Amino acid sequence: MKPFRHINVPGVAEAVDYLNKFPGSSRLIAGGTDLLGVLKDDILPAYPELLINIKAIPGLDYLREDENGLSIGALVKLAFLARSPLVREKYKVLADAARSVGTPQLRNMATVGGNLGQETRCWYYRYPHGIGGRIQCQRKGSGPCLAVGGDNRYHVIMGGKGCFAACPSDLATALAALEGSIKTEGAGGGRIISIGEFFHPLGNALKAGEMIVELQVPPLPAGSRQHWLKYTLREPVDFAVVSVAVLTVLEAGICREARIALGAVAPGPLRALQAEQFLKGKEPIPEVLQEAAVLAVQGAKPLSKNGYKVEIARVLVLRALEASFAGHK
Ligand SMILES: Cc1cc2nc3c(=O)[nH]c(=O)nc-3n(C[C@H](O)[C@H](O)[C@H](O)COP(=O)(O)OP(=O)(O)OC[C@H]3O[C@@H](n4cnc5c(N)ncnc54)[C@H](O)[C@@H]3O)c2cc1C
Repeated sequence: MKPFRHINVPGVAEAVDYLNKFPGSSRLIAGGTDLLGVLKDDILPAYPELLINIKAIPGLDYLREDENGLSIGALVKLAFLARSPLVREKYKVLADAARSVGTPQLRNMATVGGNLGQETRCWYYRYPHGIGGRIQCQRKGSGPCLAVGGDNRYHVIMGGKGCFAACPSDLATALAALEGSIKTEGAGGGRIISIGEFFHPLGNALKAGEMIVELQVPPLPAGSRQHWLKYTLREPVDFAVVSVAVLTVLEAGICREARIALGAVAPGPLRALQAEQFLKGKEPIPEVLQEAAVLAVQGAKPLSKNGYKVEIARVLVLRALEASFAGHK
């Protein structure tokens, strides 16, 4: 690692202040479970001279529920989210997604803000500088995406543009099914970004000098059920090859609402809107669910080596829908 300054900030205002005083040369550090690896491998074109430690900011690790839904402070640890009786009971996909991340040690350090802010896992992007030189690409500011003509087996099958790295965040997938959003603070004040607009092919929607302060989940539709599934190569510690979070509402045997969010198939979590629309107003019989699963992956444009992800996504959607609708009985 190269030397850097490290400061502990007492509040969000100070963190934002430092981010803005050191534009482009500072980084927030929360649990450090992603950032320290990024620094160790020296993958960033500009090495930060200042790390702004936010983990000691008091009062940013809250979980609150009121008539506006659930609010989760940016410093809530994944382990806490996974264990919370409230989240497990009512926001099941969020608890299950958090529990699916890494190891207990990792979940005890990793924060929800860091989970959304983590760097992509594309192996070209993360190629260590110390082994033959850093690989440049569009995500780093210049150069082609080597995954397109190279080994792209874990890359996106939908929505890539310039960069074809998949979104690594499991929380993002769960939040998409819950129609969650992200509250930020920056020099110009705060704003709310819906989870569907947070990620883009070259990174995320955070502006320079802006940080995540809260995740928000609106009130759930009455009587809804949820289900989370994640396909990985290695059990039990691995990033998703594909993940799926669904939320369903069934009234008198008819689907009134269906939300299907796909993870690790696109630059951000992807709602399968066509499949959702198809399900509404129908009885969720096997033929209907099978058709919905086909529709969920209809727009896929796999790269040379990741066509297999289309079939995994289809099967996960089918199984998650079956389980979620079964939960209504
Ligand atoms: C072995 C291993 C397995 C993993 N498996 C999974 C997995 O299966 N699924 C999954 O989703 N993730 C996985 N991860 C990633 C893990 O979830 C993240 O490393 C973790 O959530 C990051 O949280 P952190 O608090 O440690 O963030 P840090 O490492 O401190 O920060 C990560 C990035 O986010 C930025 N950041 C942190 N907090 C904020 C904030 N409040 N506002 C804006 N930016 C912020 C930092 O500047 C940095 O760029 C894995 C990681 C490891 C090492």
